Amino acid sequence: MFTNNLKEKYHFLTDYFEQGIKNPGKNIAHSILFYGHDINSQYELATEIAKLLNCKEFQNENCKCLNCNWVREGKHPAVITVSKIDNKPSDDESKTVISVKQSQMIKNLLLNTSEYYRVFIFCDAKIEKIGDSENWIPLGLNENNFQAETANSLLKIIEEPPENTIFFFLTRDKNDLLETIISRSQSFFVPSYNLDDRNYSLVEEIFDDYLTLERKKSFDFAQNLFLLSKEQGSEKILTQIQNYLLNLLKLNLKNSMIKNKILSDIKSVELAKKMISNHITPQLAFEDMCLNFTK
Ligand SMILES: [Zn+2]
Repeated sequence: MFTNNLKEKYHFLTDYFEQGIKNPGKNIAHSILFYGHDINSQYELATEIAKLLNCKEFQNENCKCLNCNWVREGKHPAVITVSKIDNKPSDDESKTVISVKQSQMIKNLLLNTSEYYRVFIFCDAKIEKIGDSENWIPLGLNENNFQAETANSLLKIIEEPPENTIFFFLTRDKNDLLETIISRSQSFFVPSYNLDDRNYSLVEEIFDDYLTLERKKSFDFAQNLFLLSKEQGSEKILTQIQNYLLNLLKLNLKNSMIKNKILSDIKSVELAKKMISNHITPQLAFEDMCLNFTK
């Protein structure tokens, strides 16, 4: 089914989608939100799912059926990327956003029936020039490139799409999308394995005190992180904390006491992420996490 690369990195996601797709009723959600820093992998996952939903032959990585080839070449008539630079109607002059005209175009398309499984991948994108070649790079949706007016004009069709239709929304941070989209979608965190994303510069200063943090100081510590997350987004700050801890772990592998503390604290960060995605306020999640740090 999925490529080995995706299976290795995201087996919990590929297993889930494989089971759903194998089900005769194609038992997967109509609206799917991927979040995390690696938008490329999110895009790859979405297009692989599009392939599997449309493939009528071998359902494997090397399948050369018409549907799989079309998806591979970005030419499938029913697998449509929607971004500020992709798939705009001819009278659409917007350049910085996914427009209401694009939303209308999708709704018009869906008035007709289709022999294909229709897949709409919403993301941001840019063209990057490397030497003589131009590369299309997917980026994440946010409130600037996917604004409320457009998002709201899609709500009804996302909620009750025609059969054999699926919407994907790709974003770095769930909080970059409107609640109305989040609440109508099934969300999946897509972890990043990119080296570039091992950055922790934003939290480094606060974490100077981490190894000597006392319980009575943990609320101040949490408050500093919370204030930072209000500027930068809690997902980003928590990821940087994990990056910081992973780096510290590498430096302390021989010290079993510190090593065990860090491993347990990494779990507390993961828990804080889960709390926030379950609508617990970031402030509470940061406080809980920092209290755990001093246990
Ligand atoms: Zn195929």
